[in-house]
Amino acid sequence: MAGRATIADPLEIDLVGFDAIIVSPGVPLNTHPLTEKARAAGVPIIGDIELFALARSELPAHRVIGITGTNGKSTATALVHHLLTNVGVKTRMGGNIGLPILGEEPLEEGGVYVLELSSYQIDLTRSLACEAAALINITPDHLDRYDGFAAYAFSKGRLLAMQGSGQFAVFGCADAPTNAVQQAEAARRAPGRAVCVDTHGWSQHQPDWPSLQGPHNLQNAAIAAALVQEMGLSREQVLQGLATFPGLPHRMERVVTSKGILFINDSKATNPASAAPALAAFPPVGGRARIHWICGGLAKEDNLDECAPHFGNVVRAYTIGEAGAMFAEILNPHMPVERCELMAEAMRRAMKNAQDGDVVMLSPACASFDQFRDYEVRGDTFRELVLEMGCDGDWSNGNSADNGASSPSA
Ligand code: ADP
Repeated sequence: MAGRATIADPLEIDLVGFDAIIVSPGVPLNTHPLTEKARAAGVPIIGDIELFALARSELPAHRVIGITGTNGKSTATALVHHLLTNVGVKTRMGGNIGLPILGEEPLEEGGVYVLELSSYQIDLTRSLACEAAALINITPDHLDRYDGFAAYAFSKGRLLAMQGSGQFAVFGCADAPTNAVQQAEAARRAPGRAVCVDTHGWSQHQPDWPSLQGPHNLQNAAIAAALVQEMGLSREQVLQGLATFPGLPHRMERVVTSKGILFINDSKATNPASAAPALAAFPPVGGRARIHWICGGLAKEDNLDECAPHFGNVVRAYTIGEAGAMFAEILNPHMPVERCELMAEAMRRAMKNAQDGDVVMLSPACASFDQFRDYEVRGDTFRELVLEMGCDGDWSNGNSADNGASSPSA
């Protein structure tokens, strides 16, 4: 509104007297000069999620589910949203996924807000007490924004620390840092209010969930189930929703099956920890490894240790991007590797080598910024290449020996 806002550079104006400074989660507060200036002026730095938390008392009665973790946030969030919508609960999904929560219409009474929260968003939030929350896992990521791994883990744990002692939280409990937060939370809460996820109770049904394959998705599904059961859904309602979940693009997305070869776009796997479950999801059949693995990009780590337990599922690797040379060196002792540089080249070679029953999978274990604007453009490129190359028949489906492999047999 005219005259109601002044545009100014917060580094130049006097900040004393402001209630708060609201920043985007993209601002690196660990290095930005605004942090020190705000501290000196005694002004808190917050984000849109905190504005939402502050507005909650004026909204119609509602509940909030908050979900964080290094990997699996978007899947679990979209799944919770799907499970609730499926049984007619009014819900809005926001935070680190889709529209910003403040850009959406408030819910009528009885609604549930489902928030995906990155650690950057949690850092900018002080008073969000979720009725139900999840911490899926904590593995090394985003370390450029934190003073080491412990600081990153602490940031994730704050989502749980903001909850009251009677509120509910569920934890992945598959890594030590997540376990540590679970134990601390269980100690301060009422019995059964800070629990490790129960995957065993659900695993026998996983074959019925086409978009939730792999051990990581069993974990995501069981976590989502615990959250919506806390909202009152029955086990039967949960099972029905798990079977109809359509999945998210770029997360183990089944692009097409052509000539018996399944093409998977897992461009969202931007670190080794998130590529590992995709590799785990396709074990050998009849003793034969099946995955043609396209990997590489801008490396976040100098190893692929988390993927190593699943190297036996890979029949051949195709490295791309800046990390190509390093990945080829790591993988060479374990499998044939073809250095490709560009995704189109990797696709051309993978299509040439793949046989009926194989899986051609982009699961880069790297950020995309060396060659693409973001992981979405990278995944879209993969999908377009699959459809273009597959459709015009510009590739052979045989298992040619003349494929330029740079290493011995698998
Ligand atoms: P996020 O929103 O946290 O980045 P996504 O749901 O988008 O997570 O999944 C990103 C990638 O992480 C997927 O491609 C998948 O390979 C991997 N992933 C998903 N869920 C898990 C999990 N529970 N544990 C480990 N890795 C996972």
